[in-house]
Amino acid sequence: MSKRLERPDAQGRFGEFGGRFAPETLMPALAETERAFDEAWADPVFVDEFHRILREFVGRPTPLHAAPRLSEALGVNVLLKREDLAHTGAHKINNAIGQGLLAKRMGKTKVIAETGAGQHGVATATAAAYLGLECKVYMGAVDIERQALNVLRMEILGTEVVPVTSGAGTLKDAVSEAMRAWVTTVEDSHYIIGSVVGPHPFPYMVREFQKIIGDEILEQLNGNLPDVAVACVGGGSNAMGMFFPLAESGIELVGVEAAGEGILTGRHGASITAGTPGVLHGTRTLMLQDADGQVQEAHSISAGLDYPGVGPEHAYFATTGLARYVAVDDESALEGVELLARTEGIIPALESAHAVIWVKQAAAELAGKTVLINVSGRGDKDVEQIGRFREERR
Ligand SMILES: *Cc1c(COP(=O)(O)O)cnc(C)c1O
Repeated sequence: MSKRLERPDAQGRFGEFGGRFAPETLMPALAETERAFDEAWADPVFVDEFHRILREFVGRPTPLHAAPRLSEALGVNVLLKREDLAHTGAHKINNAIGQGLLAKRMGKTKVIAETGAGQHGVATATAAAYLGLECKVYMGAVDIERQALNVLRMEILGTEVVPVTSGAGTLKDAVSEAMRAWVTTVEDSHYIIGSVVGPHPFPYMVREFQKIIGDEILEQLNGNLPDVAVACVGGGSNAMGMFFPLAESGIELVGVEAAGEGILTGRHGASITAGTPGVLHGTRTLMLQDADGQVQEAHSISAGLDYPGVGPEHAYFATTGLARYVAVDDESALEGVELLARTEGIIPALESAHAVIWVKQAAAELAGKTVLINVSGRGDKDVEQIGRFREERR
């Protein structure tokens, strides 16, 4: 049995994945961030402040509770971890607060971030307002059109939303642009990346901030461990936040990727299930690319899973067997939303619905077992889109 790595090696690698593949101009900033994070994370004053804010402002610990009607419907004993109840409606705020605090400690007055659907943008804008930092969010022009409500949220919170028109004008291009912007403003800004992706130390640092999810779960379970723990995987931060503390406990870990319109159509976001090793946004990982190594566009009904790569630690977990990865398509995710809504009164985010519906699809294999689902976020943001799909299906 392979072991989880408490931290990546000196080059930032998790086995053959990870590392720091960044332009020379970015290397000093990455090294400075790594040093500052290591110092901060070893300082009880910083760690206490992080936990105080999670408690008072974010509303942690988020509940963990049984789902009796869903359990009965599936013949599986289901438990839910309610990240949807964290302030701003998803797990992303944990990381935004952690990195915002780090930025302040480093003496930076500004933060920048990328966003796809706007969820990480809203979390970062919220953390910046709370901590008194100036904030700029890079967002693809196409996404700005599609996600008007989140753009407005960020602006109300005092954040400047910068449109990115290069490439397809979506998340991948926004990440590239935010990294370029960081190079030129590194003196006074910190880059808050939104998932366990990017060059070292980001995948490690974001996992450390998100592992509060799994730490709380272990405390809440009080020794009564489930058989299986399931989470959706986009970049992989909610899943790794849950997986890392649970790894090596004997619980089977299952990551659910977006099969989009179907793996065989090529229109999906399943970087582990259907990707190959390559370098994306400064890290070596599993990713979607063509035979010439050109990054391919990802596709998913859920914007949060619409990314052509995955955190390098997940690539490590996948290739070493520490976790299993599966994929669920758009149509099924919609079914997952209604299933959780109608049995438990919780409208999950489309992302989280991938994890929910996988449990139904695997119900025969899971019969009689206890399965913990990470409900990474709430579905309010997706209601309009879900409505459109319901119309189309009529
Ligand atoms: C952004 C998002 C995700 C995907 O990001 P990860 O880094 O894979 O967790 C999943 N669920 C919700 C609700 C999100 O907002």
